Amino acid sequence: LESNKSETLVDGNLLVARALARAGVDYMFGVVGIPVTSLANRAVSLGIRFIAFHNEQSAGYAASAYGYLTGRPGVLLTVSGPGCVHGLAGLSNAAVNTWPMVMISGSCDQKDFGRGDFQELDQIAAVKPFVKFAAKVTDISEIPTHVFDVITHAISGRPGGCYLDLPSDVLHQTVSESEAAKLLAAAENSRTGQTIGKTIGSLEIENAVSLLRHADRPLIVFGKGSAFARAENELKKLVESTGIPFLPTPMGKGLLPDTHELAATAARSLAIGRCDVALVVGARLNWLLHFGEPPRWSKDVKFILVDISEEEIELRKPYLGLVGDARLIVGLINREIKDDPFCLGKSHPWVEAISKKAKENVSRMELQLAKDIVPFNFLTPMRIIRDAILAEGSPAPILVSEGANTMDVGRSVLVQTEPRTRLDAGTWGTMGVGLGYCIAAAVASPGRLVVAVEGDSGFGFSAMEVETVVRYQLPVVVVVFNNGGVYGGDRRNPEEIQGPYKDDPAPTSFVPDAAYHILIEAFGGKGYLVGTPEELKAALAESFSAKKPTVINVRIDPYAGAESGRLQHKN
Ligand code: ADP
Repeated sequence: LESNKSETLVDGNLLVARALARAGVDYMFGVVGIPVTSLANRAVSLGIRFIAFHNEQSAGYAASAYGYLTGRPGVLLTVSGPGCVHGLAGLSNAAVNTWPMVMISGSCDQKDFGRGDFQELDQIAAVKPFVKFAAKVTDISEIPTHVFDVITHAISGRPGGCYLDLPSDVLHQTVSESEAAKLLAAAENSRTGQTIGKTIGSLEIENAVSLLRHADRPLIVFGKGSAFARAENELKKLVESTGIPFLPTPMGKGLLPDTHELAATAARSLAIGRCDVALVVGARLNWLLHFGEPPRWSKDVKFILVDISEEEIELRKPYLGLVGDARLIVGLINREIKDDPFCLGKSHPWVEAISKKAKENVSRMELQLAKDIVPFNFLTPMRIIRDAILAEGSPAPILVSEGANTMDVGRSVLVQTEPRTRLDAGTWGTMGVGLGYCIAAAVASPGRLVVAVEGDSGFGFSAMEVETVVRYQLPVVVVVFNNGGVYGGDRRNPEEIQGPYKDDPAPTSFVPDAAYHILIEAFGGKGYLVGTPEELKAALAESFSAKKPTVINVRIDPYAGAESGRLQHKN
């Protein structure tokens, strides 16, 4: 009793920090304030790096991308009410892209809830549409269990966002040191293992292999689920042993190099339009893959879908569905093939047709790219950036890309040679992810160069985070394609614009020639304004070798590019 009296006390903030550290959390992203500032400081003292942002939206995007890149949940810390609402951007991004993430928000005092307390919100209700699992801690004794639970849920099965609600009164409650140690140990011991979906039967693998073996025009499609599963070695083995052409989705790019001779990227329409069996690994048959339906796909194509989510397979009703981890399943397929190998070979008519079409399209594009057009269109600067990135060799820089035309053109011109080196607007086509993704990529792969190629509108969503990049001295080079607005300059027919505000700037346009390069200089970073190939080449060479926070403001012709980029049919 005597010794208990003199024992130091542990408050809720410290207990959360300890539980996070014990659960293996090494990074947190967020914005501090009432009631979570002490939590962030405690976490730092325990060796967790806290990356402090200006806005929870960017911090949330960072947390979601960190989860994708590392396979460990990215943790976002926010204040209550508005902080939680801003954080929903990141949480929903994790949900839609199926990336592991945990959002932890402070919330108002439990006894004052419903009476108009400071930043009061029913946060559990607010996060509900975007989470796999949410928990509210109502007493300090529940902290360790709930912390371990949210982390486990975020990574088990189909990854996604989870939420932990921490009322301010719980953060101020205390327990003794010995009680805290007991609670932590108990939570750790009862931690449940990761589930990896139902066990796949050998018959299903045999069927998949038989379909591929007997196909006339087989195709292997892979997406960011395969990237998350780190299935690159297994996919490479499958592609190279069978000689089957492959098509990556935008973020699947790099699992096998874009320059691989079996890459069907430059012959995409032919590949998906004519294939008779498509093995789709860790990619949804959603809008990005034209729902797997005619007219883009043949009506007779037989899909073999590999996905960790049984629900996803149920939804698509493929010819054959294999539920499980991409790396595991492709590994099993390889093992099955090994006993009775088959390979299409270069002279197979299907392989030849794809290779011929890809070469034609690449040479046509190269003719366009070779021109030095000033004022810049999108192609000339993109070629220069492509060459500068390729000249970096290995490890390849991580590319972050957003914007309409900038992202569309970048997707076909920029070359990915290594896995998980492309982060873009993703499944939701989300603009504003750029700076958050840059920061996540820089901390997920320390020392590696991160290059963002963004439209000026995409950049503007989170431009203030360049200060964050400077503050932590991250090796991030942001190239802004500045054409003065969303899609570029004012493209309206003046005769169609009426009313008292007809002389306002167009809803699509920003201040022309905005000096974005000066923005980063306000914080001590390096800025460049470029308008010619020589200036761009020099700025890239200097900034890639310096690996310091940089913004390169590239002046683009405001009338280059198209409204809605390549998605005009959705307008
Ligand atoms: P993309 O945008 O590249 O087409 P999607 O985000 O549409 O990719 O699809 C990714 C799919 O990968 C999701 O349906 C998700 O359930 C699945 N997935 C996530 N992790 C794994 C894994 N370890 N193994 C297999 N599939 C996975």
